[in-house]
Amino acid sequence: MRKPIIAGNWKMNKTAAECRALVTELLPKVKGAKCDVVVCVPFTDIALAAELTKGSNIAVGAQNIAWADSGAFTGEISAAMLVEAGASYVIIGHSERRQYFGETDKSVNARLLQALKTGLKPIVCVGELLAEREGGLTEKVCRTQVVGAFEGVSAEQAAGVVIAYEPVWAIGTGKTATDEQANETIGYIRSVVKELYGEKVANGMRIQYGGSMNAKNVAGLMAQPEIDGGLIGGASLKAEDFSIIVAAAK
Ligand code: PEP
Repeated sequence: MRKPIIAGNWKMNKTAAECRALVTELLPKVKGAKCDVVVCVPFTDIALAAELTKGSNIAVGAQNIAWADSGAFTGEISAAMLVEAGASYVIIGHSERRQYFGETDKSVNARLLQALKTGLKPIVCVGELLAEREGGLTEKVCRTQVVGAFEGVSAEQAAGVVIAYEPVWAIGTGKTATDEQANETIGYIRSVVKELYGEKVANGMRIQYGGSMNAKNVAGLMAQPEIDGGLIGGASLKAEDFSIIVAAAK
């Protein structure tokens, strides 16, 4: 049995004051969760979110990680900084990073190796563009992204990685993949993991769906056998919506 994991991706939203309000509202609402609950907050909110969630069932994550330990990398945040601030998870290779900040499979791989080296739990995002889905390239794209991300990652390390399958055309658009589309592609991604690491790692790996998951569509998606949770953007910014999603993941 894989324990579901629901992770909020706040993206570039919520100042420290707003973070305090949202986390404070969220804490009692997700207290009895049967899944792992994570909030991936902006860098400037990590220490505060960690302090507010101390001793609770909410873990705090970052949205990116530098591939180097330290040094001349203006604008980057190191693994040690994230850990010391209180993060335990980190999103790597989100499609917005790939689209706007030049993230490639190679840089995703370097960031993943760094996260694993320092004990942060990675959530690696993969997914196809609309033109790629329409061109029948979904599986090819997901395979390339998974193989690229996991280069040099051992089976033991891979077992601790969460993959988020996020069709790019479904992110922030209100268009969700159908339950069957999401399940089918996640099943395919699991088969790629099996080729790389064998059945045990593949069967144990948690693979989330992400892309306009919300309080209304979560039940159908979570009922699919391959879907082990969600990476939630927009709906993670409201405590009520996020807690309904969390309650549906059991
Ligand atoms: C995301 O940012 O990973 C995401 C899935 O966003 P949204 O839920 O808003 O589509």
